[in-house]
Amino acid sequence: MTPHSVTLDLGGRTALVTGAASGIGRACALRLAAAGAAVRAVDRDRAGLDALAGAHPAVEPVPLDLTDLDAAERAAAGADVLVNNAGFQVVRPLEEFPPDAFHALLTVMLEAPFRLIRGALPHMYARGWGRIVNVSSVHGLRASAYKSAYVCAKHGLEGLSKVAALEGAPHGVTSNCVCPAYVRTPLVEKQIADQAAAHGIPEERVVTDVMLADSALKRLIEPEEVAEAVAYLCAPQASAITGSSLPLDGGWTAH
Ligand code: NAD
Repeated sequence: MTPHSVTLDLGGRTALVTGAASGIGRACALRLAAAGAAVRAVDRDRAGLDALAGAHPAVEPVPLDLTDLDAAERAAAGADVLVNNAGFQVVRPLEEFPPDAFHALLTVMLEAPFRLIRGALPHMYARGWGRIVNVSSVHGLRASAYKSAYVCAKHGLEGLSKVAALEGAPHGVTSNCVCPAYVRTPLVEKQIADQAAAHGIPEERVVTDVMLADSALKRLIEPEEVAEAVAYLCAPQASAITGSSLPLDGGWTAH
């Protein structure tokens, strides 16, 4: 595992991480637990949550499907750190994009973060301190073909994060996005077949010809690299950073 480079003490704090059973969320949950936080790990994947809880005693599994928006809002009450991370991908041309999938994606990746922030803010405001980190994407800053719902959700999340920053600032609450390009996780592995079909290329060319095409850095990013950026945004030294978006995109947005 990548060694930690950020000094972070979250002793006495509660962190809630969504999508914690896998990939970036799992790395964030373990990173925040290592910093001393009590971590509420939210996911719909019970087996993944149990495996995570077995990896660190400070992790409490919270099995929850985020399409239950009322339950999501309730789960966020009392959180000092909120990492909005859960997500999935659907790759289809616009004219073939299933409306149900568009709705489901926006529910989990935009409306649930709104409800989680809504649920977390009263406690953060009462304590005069809070950290909201939204796992956006390079697709919060740039579009790609065949990803209409995802690009809409991430651009919306960028806006939501900025509003939370403006409202939270007088209360000691920061809100930021991290914006990775392709990270080595199951979400990426699962979309290779769909990307190949949408682009009309063989699966073995998807990583090089599609995923890394716009990145100056020709490698996938590791989940622990994203988790370390999240840790930095939770540190006291980052208290002036709010309403920002931190690209971890290998130079994609330098174009
Ligand atoms: P992943 O598939 O490894 O993990 C996503 C997790 O979200 C899973 O454990 C899944 O069960 C959970 N989840 C999905 N829908 C849910 C729901 N309705 N209720 C509860 N949990 C739900 O994916 P990942 O790559 O770690 O992605 C995490 C976040 O990072 C996503 O928001 C994604 O858009 C973003 N992101 C990923 C990449 C990448 O290349 N992997 C790049 C940029 C941004």
